[in-house]
Amino acid sequence: MAEPKENLQMEKIVSLCKRRGFIFQSSEIYGGINGFWDYGPLGAELKRNVKELWWHAMTRQRDDVAGLEATIIMSPKIWEASGHVDTFSDPMVDCKGCKKRFRADQIEPQTGIVYHFSGAYDGSKFNPLLNQYPPEFRDAVKSQVLEFADDYKKQTDPSEEIVNALKARALKFKAEFKQDNCPPLTELHKEYSEAIQNKCDNANSVLLLPGKPAESARKTAMQFYQQRGINTPNLLDERTEKLEAPTTCFCNECQSELTEPKPFTLMFKTYVGPVNVSALDYKPDIDPKKLEEWFKAFNEGEKNIAYLRPETAQAIFAQFKNVLETSRQKVPFGIAQVGKAFRNEVTPRNFTFRSREFEQMELEFFIKPDEVVEAICGNVATLSDSQPSTLNPQSNWGWQAWHQYWVEERERFYEGIGLSRETLGVHHQTANELAHYARACTDILFKFPFSKKDEHGNVAGDELEGIAARSDFDLSQHQRFSGKPMGVFDDELRAAWGKLPKEKQDDLRKRYYNHRKNYLTKSAKTSEEVDAALKQADEDANGLAKGQYIPHVIEPSAGVDRLILALIANAYSEVTSTDDKGKSETIYMMKFHPRVAPIKAGVFPLLKNKPELVKKAQEVRDLLRPWMNVYYDEGGSIGKRYARQDEAGTPFCVTIDFDTLGEKPELLDTVTIRYRDDGRQERLKTSELLAFLLSKIR
Ligand code: ATP
Repeated sequence: MAEPKENLQMEKIVSLCKRRGFIFQSSEIYGGINGFWDYGPLGAELKRNVKELWWHAMTRQRDDVAGLEATIIMSPKIWEASGHVDTFSDPMVDCKGCKKRFRADQIEPQTGIVYHFSGAYDGSKFNPLLNQYPPEFRDAVKSQVLEFADDYKKQTDPSEEIVNALKARALKFKAEFKQDNCPPLTELHKEYSEAIQNKCDNANSVLLLPGKPAESARKTAMQFYQQRGINTPNLLDERTEKLEAPTTCFCNECQSELTEPKPFTLMFKTYVGPVNVSALDYKPDIDPKKLEEWFKAFNEGEKNIAYLRPETAQAIFAQFKNVLETSRQKVPFGIAQVGKAFRNEVTPRNFTFRSREFEQMELEFFIKPDEVVEAICGNVATLSDSQPSTLNPQSNWGWQAWHQYWVEERERFYEGIGLSRETLGVHHQTANELAHYARACTDILFKFPFSKKDEHGNVAGDELEGIAARSDFDLSQHQRFSGKPMGVFDDELRAAWGKLPKEKQDDLRKRYYNHRKNYLTKSAKTSEEVDAALKQADEDANGLAKGQYIPHVIEPSAGVDRLILALIANAYSEVTSTDDKGKSETIYMMKFHPRVAPIKAGVFPLLKNKPELVKKAQEVRDLLRPWMNVYYDEGGSIGKRYARQDEAGTPFCVTIDFDTLGEKPELLDTVTIRYRDDGRQERLKTSELLAFLLSKIR
C-alpha cells in the first residue's frame, strides 16, 4: 500500500511540464513556495480549454443551468453558516522523532514490537569511564552503579554508616573484578548521579518493524532524546510490547511515536480594511504596560477577519435567491461557477494534485424534495426505474435519480475529453465517510501515476470530482444564519397538494416534518431552542400545502488542476525508435484529445525561404486563427517542426507545399494534414480545412 518513494513516471511528467511550459513552480526564482503552481504558455491554454468545455457543457448547452461569478472574499458569516469556521480542518499528527507532519487518516497501519523508554540521561561523561572496563564486564559494572545509585537515592540524607557500607560494596565489587586500572566505581557513580539529575523525563516509544534489529529501535529513540538536548542518550527503563493488531500510532517513515491528532484549520485568514499591523504581530517580550493597547488593537483586527474562500460553492447558495429571481429558472435548475479556491493544506503533495491555491468547477443543482415530487407526480422514480432514461431527466425524479444522472453526466464529460473509462474509477462514500447531512457522495477517480495499489495490485485512483447529494442543508443553514428565507414557491405543488387525499397529505407532511425536525433540532441546545425548532419544523411542513419548500441540492464539484494533471498524465507517451545504425532515440508525445489540446493545429510553410509558400501559409494561419489556437512555425526541418508540436500535444499539423500553389494542378489549394497520433498524412482542400478542424475540436 505504501507510495513508492520515487515515482519515475511522475518525475518525467513534472520535468516535461517545466520543459515545455505547462506548469512551473510558483516564485521559482526565490526558491518556490510550497503548494502553489503557475501555468506556463501551454498550461494556460490547456486550462482555459478545460474550463470553457466545462462551462459549455454545464451551462450553455443546457436550459436548466445558469452561471455565476462571485468574489473570492465574502462575508465571514458565510463560512460560519457553512460550518467551515468550526469544522473545516484536517486532523494532523506530528512525528515526535523526525518532526514531519501527516494527515492522521493517511497513516498506514503497521505492526511489530513496541520499544518503550521512560527517558534518557546524558552519558557523555559516564560512557567513556564505563568503556574503560573490558566489554564483558560493562553490563555488570553498569548495573552495579545503577543499583548503587538506587540504594543511595533511597536515602534522602544518607548517614555515614550507609555511605561507608556503599563504599565497602564498591571496593568488594572492584576486588571481585580485579580491574585495578579501571576508574573507581565511585567516579562512575558520581557522573551517573549528576547525569541522572538532568535526565530527560519524556517517555518515548518506537515501533520495531518485523525483521529489523532491536538496535534500530534504540537508535531512533536516541535521536528523539538528542533533539531534546541529551547529547549522548543512555536510554532508561527499556520495555517491549508485542503488538496484537496493526497500529497507526507510529510514523510510517521513522517508526517514532506520533502525537495525538489535532485539528488544523484549512482556511486562509486575511483582514479587510485598514488593520493595525503591530496588533497582528505579538511579541512575547511586549512591554506589559502596552499589553492592554495590544489587546485592543488585536480585537479590532479580529473584527475585520475574512477568509479566502475554500470552495466556490457557498457563493452559489448565498446568491441562490438572486439567481432564481433574475434567471427565470424554476426548480429543478442549477447554478454553475468556476473559480479560485484556497486551502492551507498541511501537506501539499503529488505536484498540483493537492495545492494550496487551485480552481474548482462547481455546480449546485437544486431539486425538489422527494415529498414534493411525490405530491406532484404521485410517485418518485426509484433508481432502477430511472436507469433506462438517465439521459433524459423526468419530472418524477427524486434525489437518487438526479444523483445518478449527474454521476453519469460527469463521467461522460471526462470521456468526451479523452479520459477513457479504464483510466477512471468511482468510489461510493460509505456511511462513515459521508457528512452528516449528505445522503450520498460518489467520487470520480483518476488513476494517477502516484495512485496506490490495493493488496490485489489494483489501482482505484484518486479523486477528481465528488458528486454529493447534500439534502437541503446548505440553503437551510444560510436561512438560519442570515435570517433571509431561502425557500421557493412552487405553483405546481400548491395545485397538486389540494387534489391529494387527506391520508396522502398527512403521510407526506409527516415525512417532511421529520426531515425538517432532524435538521432543526440538531443545533438546538436548550429546551427553549428545541421548542422553537419543533415549531419551525411544523411551520415548514405546513408550507407544503402553500407550495413552499427549501430545495435540496446535488453538487458535482470538480477540481480544474487535478483534471489538468490527469489530462497531462493520460496524454504523456514515449516512443523509442532505433535507426539502421542501432542508435535508439526516445521521443515524447502528448496525446491530448483535440478538444483540450493547447494548440489545435501547427501551420507550416514547407520552406521558409520561398515567399509564396510563406504567404500562403500565413493566409491559412489567419483563416484558422479566429476559431482556434494555431501555431505558425517556419523554423527547422518539417520533421523537427512535427516533433515540437507532438511534444506540445498538437493533434494536427497543416503543411503548405508547392502542390498547394498548383505545382500539380489537380492539387491546387490543397494542404497536407498530418495526424499526431499515427503520423498519417492526407490532402485536404484549403476551403474544407476549417470545417474539418472544427468538427474535431468541438
Ligand atoms: P480531498 O479529500 O482530496 O482533500 P475533498 O473531498 O476535500 O478532496 P472537495 O472539498 O469535495 O474535495 O472539493 C472538490 C474538488 O476540488 C475535489 O474533488 C478536487 O478536485 C478539488 N480539490 C480539493 N482540494 C484540492 C486541493 N488542495 N488541490 C487541488 N484540488 C483540490
